[in-house]
Amino acid sequence: MGKDYYQILGVNRNASSDEIKKAYRKLAMKYHPDRNPGNKEAEQTFKEAAEAYGVLSDAEKKRLYDQYGEEGLKGAGTRGYSSFEDIFDAFGDIFGGGSIFDEFFGRGRSRAEAGKRGASLKCDIEIGFKEVATGVEKKIELMRKEICDVCHGTGAKEGTFPVTCPYCGGRGQVQQSQGFFTLRTTCPKCRGNGKIIESPCKKCGGTKRYPRKASISIQIPAGVEDGTRLRLVGQGEPGENGAPPGDLYCDVHVTPHPIFKRHGNDVLCEVPISFTQAVLGCKIDVPTLTGNIIQVKVPKGIQNNEIIPIKGEGFPNVHRYGKGNLLVQVEVEIPTKISSRQEELLKEFAELEKSSTSSRQKKFMEKMKQIS
Ligand SMILES: [Zn+2]
Ligand SMILES: [Zn+2]
Repeated sequence: MGKDYYQILGVNRNASSDEIKKAYRKLAMKYHPDRNPGNKEAEQTFKEAAEAYGVLSDAEKKRLYDQYGEEGLKGAGTRGYSSFEDIFDAFGDIFGGGSIFDEFFGRGRSRAEAGKRGASLKCDIEIGFKEVATGVEKKIELMRKEICDVCHGTGAKEGTFPVTCPYCGGRGQVQQSQGFFTLRTTCPKCRGNGKIIESPCKKCGGTKRYPRKASISIQIPAGVEDGTRLRLVGQGEPGENGAPPGDLYCDVHVTPHPIFKRHGNDVLCEVPISFTQAVLGCKIDVPTLTGNIIQVKVPKGIQNNEIIPIKGEGFPNVHRYGKGNLLVQVEVEIPTKISSRQEELLKEFAELEKSSTSSRQKKFMEKMKQIS
């Protein structure tokens, strides 16, 4: 016997073409793929209903089917539908005027015009070093075109609605015959929308969107690097005809710090010490990223530019666990002005120095002898 198309549509055998259309419309709405994403069963039902409607809405096919069953349709060009696009192609016109799919699901008739994704936006955010260390939530304000709140995105004046385009009858396309060829082109009056706006919305001028100040909160992860671009999915401008919105790209700029410099996840801090502190060793106060002051022991005889690493006081790794280090780099200062008493003592120091030449000086003198 094959498939019972009447049963599939849930109508009896004497149903009028109107009842058949209504029944199909109901099923198509209920099992539409946009409403049942990923639901295979709904997909199957949707396709079967389309197949059933394809037969029962065609007088000749219906006659053959009523008389001979599915068998009778062989050679009559009945088809199952392999894809949704297929179904939309076949039934784009079944509900006259504007297709039911267009109205309910925002599928424009002309695919080129339909489903234009919303524009993506870009913004810049400036954050400080400390905020990088902890991560931070920032609020930004930007002007963003949003669906007009007066016409609710129809583009038509309050109390009116867009009407079916009289030029193309709502098809969005017009046909022209040239010799043997029939050319289909996008309707010049409605630009493929199938609808026109007779009196445009006063607020948006019929453009359906209006710029509004949007306040967006952005979570900036700890450890983020200067110049990082964050992507906020769906925070751009709204799409057309139900298409997805654009994204918001946010460029993060880290304000340079007066004393910290970033090296990967480590942070370098140059600390000046006097030459006597370098020779004798000392304790110095060093600031950390989190705003604390810690005391760091400088060992006796530290050399200029030598680094004392402080574990775990750097930036958190933005991708993995763990933290970088704080690198305290000592900058030994040679005094340019000294008192006469200091000079006296230093001269005395220099006398003693002669008898104990440093190892580096010795090495240098040896090399000098070799080249001469
Ligand atoms: Zn408007
Ligand atoms: Zn038109």
